[in-house]
Amino acid sequence: MLVRGGTGADVPGPPSLSELEHLPAAAVLPLGELDGRRCVAVALELDPAGDEEDPTGPGSREIPGGLAPAGLRELFARLGDGPLLQMVVRASEMVEWYLAHAFCGRCGGPTVLSEVEMARACAACGTLHFPRISPAVITLVHRGREVLLARNRGFRAGFYALVAGFVEAGETLEQAVHREVGEEVGVEVDELEYFGSQAWPFPSQLMVGFFARYAGGEIRVQESEISEARWFHVDRLPAPQDRPAPYSIAGRLIQGFLDRHRSG
Ligand SMILES: [Zn+2]
Repeated sequence: MLVRGGTGADVPGPPSLSELEHLPAAAVLPLGELDGRRCVAVALELDPAGDEEDPTGPGSREIPGGLAPAGLRELFARLGDGPLLQMVVRASEMVEWYLAHAFCGRCGGPTVLSEVEMARACAACGTLHFPRISPAVITLVHRGREVLLARNRGFRAGFYALVAGFVEAGETLEQAVHREVGEEVGVEVDELEYFGSQAWPFPSQLMVGFFARYAGGEIRVQESEISEARWFHVDRLPAPQDRPAPYSIAGRLIQGFLDRHRSG
């Protein structure tokens, strides 16, 4: 995402539309209002490396001065929770949806942006393709003052996180929690407690967080996904850099567990 104030400690801000007008864009998508100003997502066709041979002329696809690219995770960390971050998330998910639905998934025909609702409409069969959100559950399993953390195969050494996975077709959120915990770490849980949710644009998840009480079984990891899972006492958790960042719902679940138990 292009932001003003791309590096350093200052809070990044959005570009204005006039700064982007001369750039090639695949789409301009309405996002709603922020502080009384109309916001749009512009899906730019840029060449961030600046090394593409561009027939339309030198420099035309380069990033405008004063703006710099910033990763989504970086923006989560730098913007904090608030309406601007929410707009960033919405912009990312809308552009992802727009680019992924150029053709109808039902008949293969080309789609066009609907003029009456936020959808891409198939010109051939009329099917509407709306922005797609994928629900996923993330669960903090607790046993007294211990919490169950797991290492995914792709994690760097020493990093632990919570059990998480997509909700499957036909499932409730609660069923997904029981299934995911059972599949990934082999234990049973009860007393599910809703914690909160978070839009997570990697690319378009809705993360739904739960606390769940350990109810039985031995840890047995799903080896295709998880390399290790173990109990951590609340006073001996992995260091903050070795567990989910505080801006993620996983980090907030762990902080919520700490707040409940650390003082006794
Ligand atoms: Zn179609």
